[in-house]
Amino acid sequence: MASSSESVCDDQGDYQWPWCQMGHFGINFIQTDGSKAYVEGDLSRAYIKDYELLRASKRPKDQKLAEEKIQEDLDEMSLKEVESEANGDTVDDKILDEKDMAYEVLPKWTSDKKKGRKKKIKGRYNYRSFNEYWDVASFYLTQMTWLNDFGDQMNEENKEELRKQCEEMKPVYPIEQHENLLENPDYQHVTKSMIESKPGSTYEEIYSEHCELIKKKSEIDYHAHQTKAVTRRCKDMISRVKRLGYAPGFEESQLPSFYDLSTEQKHDKPLIKEIRYTIDDAFSKKFCGADGRDEKVEDSSASTSDSTSPSDSQHEMPTPVNPSEIRFNFDPETEQYLIASNAEKLYANDPEISKYYYQRYRLFSRLDEGIIMDREGWFSVTPEAIAEHIADRVVRHNVSVVVDAFTGVGGNAIQFALRGAHVIAIDMDPVRLKCARENARVYGVADYIDFICADFFDVAATWAADKKLAPKVDAVFLSPPWGGPSYLKAKEFDLATGCCPNGVDIFDVSLKISPNIAYFLPRNTKVSQLTELAIKAKSRMEIEQSSLNSKIKTITVYYGKLAYREKMPACDT
Ligand code: ADP
Repeated sequence: MASSSESVCDDQGDYQWPWCQMGHFGINFIQTDGSKAYVEGDLSRAYIKDYELLRASKRPKDQKLAEEKIQEDLDEMSLKEVESEANGDTVDDKILDEKDMAYEVLPKWTSDKKKGRKKKIKGRYNYRSFNEYWDVASFYLTQMTWLNDFGDQMNEENKEELRKQCEEMKPVYPIEQHENLLENPDYQHVTKSMIESKPGSTYEEIYSEHCELIKKKSEIDYHAHQTKAVTRRCKDMISRVKRLGYAPGFEESQLPSFYDLSTEQKHDKPLIKEIRYTIDDAFSKKFCGADGRDEKVEDSSASTSDSTSPSDSQHEMPTPVNPSEIRFNFDPETEQYLIASNAEKLYANDPEISKYYYQRYRLFSRLDEGIIMDREGWFSVTPEAIAEHIADRVVRHNVSVVVDAFTGVGGNAIQFALRGAHVIAIDMDPVRLKCARENARVYGVADYIDFICADFFDVAATWAADKKLAPKVDAVFLSPPWGGPSYLKAKEFDLATGCCPNGVDIFDVSLKISPNIAYFLPRNTKVSQLTELAIKAKSRMEIEQSSLNSKIKTITVYYGKLAYREKMPACDT
């Protein structure tokens, strides 16, 4: 994997800014309806710098597995096969001594067996399923317990031969319950009692039953072992994810120790059944300081300010505007209050905005060329360098039509268009959409953007209801309002209750338009919720932190073909 490498590219060349894959994970979930789901994804970070724009803005004075193999084994052991060799002798005939049937009934030994199995042993307890473990351990478990129970009915030579075979086939890493198999009372006299209860049984029947019972016991033990191991891995992954500056969001009740893998239980969140990951802690040391703590994490929004967001009204729903008063053309005479370069005077008594003014070129590098913004635009627009990076990530994947569902004053839409995409820019606030259009003109890309003043949910419903009305969309970009200032204080940002409208509903609606989604969110959004979205989308995911001048500002979560594509590494930790 590419962690610890500072500049990385995907299959279409280098990203504009240094980018790093910090980790990779694959999680098997049991969903609330009992079905299974698998999510695979990456944790990454983009190192974006805009010191020059910041300097320019300053105040002048300061500055698998082997299902088939198992089947083969089962076939090998099955009645069918042994029947061809069997004589139908019963145990109580006591002819076993003569023919040594307790030994003869066993599948024939070949040294190939050993070769095939030993190769499968990859590492300590590194079994991906019970079947994989059974593939490695079945011979040892069934034969060793058979020898233990029925050895006294074999001749010495055969007994010794079987003991040798068992030793050779002993898995290098048995689960703990099988380490001292013959000291585990659960594996003693497993089928011997059958002789008493069913006196007419043939050896074939007994052997077949024996194999089944051992397999059942082993499966139960394997799950107990697995549950412990998965829980340990979950906890480890959660703490590593935290160290990198994400908010994991997984709850104790989702971890395996709280349920029995072999039974179905009701639950209201997806449960983790298995987890594999590679998250390089050395990385966090190398890039985030010697103490292993992350680089500074900013709790505020995408805002370029180092302090908290200025106004509670920042993420309030826009006030409805009387349609008769809406004018979509910008009038520089009557609407001077929107002109961004006038902001110093306009907001002279508004210290919150003046703070943004002195970082103005970070929002729009061409701010002095006619950029317009309402008051909210100042602290909600995505910093240009971050918007550039996201556009770079989205448009490279043969994406020609992008929907920007919550356009605001257009910071992102402009960057998509500058990279050659056709943008459908939606916002329900006419003033903000007017700003977006005017700003697109400043950047020379207004012709590449369709502006739609409407509620995104209505637009999506219209497109879903009549496919003829729906454009062919390659990707959807989502930067919804983050629902008030509470996300600044909360340790973890909840997508459902934090976004306004509900961030999960926004994703659901977007999926109807395209599977390729880039979701721009607070950096403390719960990773658990983001993975639940990937389950719905049946897609891989990437959670990318935007580090702007060494501070983690936001995350962008990529789904579908927008996510980084690297195969799951073969091992876990
Ligand atoms: P940004 O400007 O970075 O996109 P904001 O949080 O200020 O960030 O903007 C979100 C935008 O989304 C606002 O301009 C608001 O008018 C718009 N908006 C909010 N709800 C909807 C909706 N249901 N449909 C379309 N636009 C919406």
